[in-house]
Amino acid sequence: MPDVLVAGAGPTGLLTAFELERAGLDVLVLERDARPATQSKALALQPRSVEVLADRGLLAAIERHVVARLPGGHFSGIPIDYADLPTRFPYQLGVEQAHVAAAIEARLRTPVLRSAAVTAVTQDDAGVAVAAGGRVHRAGWLVAADGGRTIVADAADTGLDAQSADVVVGEALLTMQSDRAKKAIVDEAHRILRPGGRYAIHELGLLPDSLPQDTKEAIRRDLAQSIKVNARPMTVQEWTDLLTESGFEIENVDRAPMALLRPARVIADEGIIGTLRILVNLLTRPAARNRVLAMRRTFRTYRDALTAVAIVAVVPQQGQAVTLDVHQAVVVDRRGDGDDH
Ligand SMILES: Cc1cc2nc3c(=O)[nH]c(=O)nc-3n(C[C@H](O)[C@H](O)[C@H](O)COP(=O)(O)OP(=O)(O)OC[C@H]3O[C@@H](n4cnc5c(N)ncnc54)[C@H](O)[C@@H]3O)c2cc1C
Repeated sequence: MPDVLVAGAGPTGLLTAFELERAGLDVLVLERDARPATQSKALALQPRSVEVLADRGLLAAIERHVVARLPGGHFSGIPIDYADLPTRFPYQLGVEQAHVAAAIEARLRTPVLRSAAVTAVTQDDAGVAVAAGGRVHRAGWLVAADGGRTIVADAADTGLDAQSADVVVGEALLTMQSDRAKKAIVDEAHRILRPGGRYAIHELGLLPDSLPQDTKEAIRRDLAQSIKVNARPMTVQEWTDLLTESGFEIENVDRAPMALLRPARVIADEGIIGTLRILVNLLTRPAARNRVLAMRRTFRTYRDALTAVAIVAVVPQQGQAVTLDVHQAVVVDRRGDGDDH
């Protein structure tokens, strides 16, 4: 488990990861895009930025891409003559942001994990659980360096306008919440979706629907102890009830075997190199090894009762709601005057 996750492999995220690695921490950068950006928003570095990159030994790799050294610049339109500054680099360095980012990325110990957009974050006493690229990453800390446009908000209180979204996706977010928090998040998804909008969730489920309450509690307790996250999976029926109670109609329910920590799935998800890296980490870190083995034991013990469940629910179209109103009105009418409508 890394000490820190960084969301975003722009210059901010990459330099943050670089600095944290220099301080001796294990860092993993999660990046939404599949490939490094080739287009550059920024085209020049200010003297102080050049000083920092030089101090960190990063300037040499950047310098061969420099196209200009500009002796002057401006701050909000106020002209600046760099010759007046007490600096080794009295100029703006003309270099594309993509080259600066690539130079920093090349010096990271752990490669950036790409196609891994952060979609949900939960925090507890042990740290953070971050959903990205189809799995949940745990770490002590998360740094959000995902650019200027992202809203960071509570999933139960997003601040988004009512009926402003067509699709809301919750990836392994609800399982870790209490019953009350689950309901609040589903209600919020319902609020921000337009009529006809879809809510897709992918969660940990329990089988069968008739599973006794004390078995459910035992599974939840053992999961919480072994994975150190307060996991509260529910039966498939309970998941669908949660959604319908908030006003959704169920469109599709899919199940798949729970394959977490199964060797074949680890290789499929991480590749041979990634799997070997995990094995080396487990062999060299007894605490991590014990924890992973405890998790695996729990998953195996409850193999028959655990399932992955994916549900797509839809906010009913307004037309359907009107139909219901008319039906209710007819019933009231019948009781009122006895007419046969
Ligand atoms: C038009 C324009 C011109 C500019 N010109 C200059 C200039 O000349 N000089 C200058 O110094 N600066 C300039 N800037 C500013 C500079 O480009 C930004 O300050 C810089 O890009 C900020 O870096 P960043 O890493 O914070 O964000 P970004 O460069 O935006 O990087 C954010 C990264 O996070 C990733 N990401 C987003 N969401 C997620 C998610 N959910 N999960 C995982 N990853 C995610 C993105 O794919 C991206 O790679 C300009 C900016 C603009 C828009």
